Amino acid sequence: MSARLLLKPGKERSLFRRHPWLFAGSVAQLDGRARPGDTVDVMDGDRLIAKAAWSPASQIRARVWSFDPNETIDNAFFKRRVAAAVARRQALPALRGQSGLRILHAESDGLPGVIADQYGDMVVIQLTSAGADKWRAAIVDAIVKATGCARVYERSDSEVRKLEGLEPTTGWVHGAAPETDPIIEEHGVKMAVNYAGGHKTGFYLDQRDNRRMTRELAAGRRVLNCFCYSGGFSLQALAGGASEVISIDSSGPALATAQQNLELNPELSASKCEWREDDVFQALRNLHKAGEKFDLIILDPPKFAPSSAHAERAARAYKDINLHGFKLLNPGGLMMTYSCSGGIGLELFQSIVAGAARDAGLVTNMGARIVQRLQGAADHPIDLAFPEGEYLKGLLVQVD
Ligand code: SAH
Repeated sequence: MSARLLLKPGKERSLFRRHPWLFAGSVAQLDGRARPGDTVDVMDGDRLIAKAAWSPASQIRARVWSFDPNETIDNAFFKRRVAAAVARRQALPALRGQSGLRILHAESDGLPGVIADQYGDMVVIQLTSAGADKWRAAIVDAIVKATGCARVYERSDSEVRKLEGLEPTTGWVHGAAPETDPIIEEHGVKMAVNYAGGHKTGFYLDQRDNRRMTRELAAGRRVLNCFCYSGGFSLQALAGGASEVISIDSSGPALATAQQNLELNPELSASKCEWREDDVFQALRNLHKAGEKFDLIILDPPKFAPSSAHAERAARAYKDINLHGFKLLNPGGLMMTYSCSGGIGLELFQSIVAGAARDAGLVTNMGARIVQRLQGAADHPIDLAFPEGEYLKGLLVQVD
């Protein structure tokens, strides 16, 4: 019999809104025994209201698998959830036929702690919660059944596993390594995915739509792509007819993949593309000193604020790059600026960017307006009951 998780008075309310997290402070008592990752019955008095994964090491003490008291959490449950997530994506024309696709987006697909990205016939998973870790075999089996993929690689080396008391783990969980890294196609541009050595699962699929917008905006423009990783935005800018693309990243291996990606696309004019291994904070200042100007600047930095506790320091970092970015724009120039920090909301991010534009404008007398708000692609949905799922936000800003 499952252990029963008893809540403090009033703490059942977020569950009735279908929010899947139960924080340590909500738990009155665990009635019975449960090991990390075990499924527990969440009680409202005598009434079972949810089934959740127990995670004693984490501040998020339990994550709900199901709000249906009659649903059993077993292999069949994971088959249903994974199949539903894959079907949801197939129902959206923009996602159908994508060779790179996020098929499981954790809480937003009803599977807390489970991330899965499909690259051709390979899926790369990342399990970040005790419950997800416990059900690895069922999840992998469900993914293989739903996608027909021949290989599944695990990249559970994210820092957040520590918060759940889990060790990092990586390796093949189904099938064996292919001879070369998978190559996906994004808006007709080929991209190799360094699934074993790259960041996260190897590629930032969430920026797919925004890369297409870059391509549409790039014609005749001099482009600066900051934090370029494997060159996704850079290659789309080239494909869109940019006059020149300068890309900066501090990671040598990321730039090696970017260069490899450029070579995979011989129709793009490599002579217009320059990779620079540098720290963006410093590089922006140096470009300004050198009198360089650009017509389109992309700022897609790493997560400066994993949680709201880091928000203040992160805000300073966002302000800094945006301020120095704005100073590099030609009249009429465009800035695509992003934050993927869960700890920085859209409103705060917008006010940081506004402050940066204002300060840059003090020097150049420049006005700036948002022409579009940007977000992650549709395979990174945001469950309305789980606003925390909205981590990626961006602004397309046009200056005078
Ligand atoms: N825009 C990329 C994803 C960016 S991920 C894409 O479309 O795929 C963030 C990148 O920032 C990583 O590649 C990381 O190596 C790089 N990075 C982190 N800190 C940096 C710094 N201070 N200067 C330059 N690059 C940095």
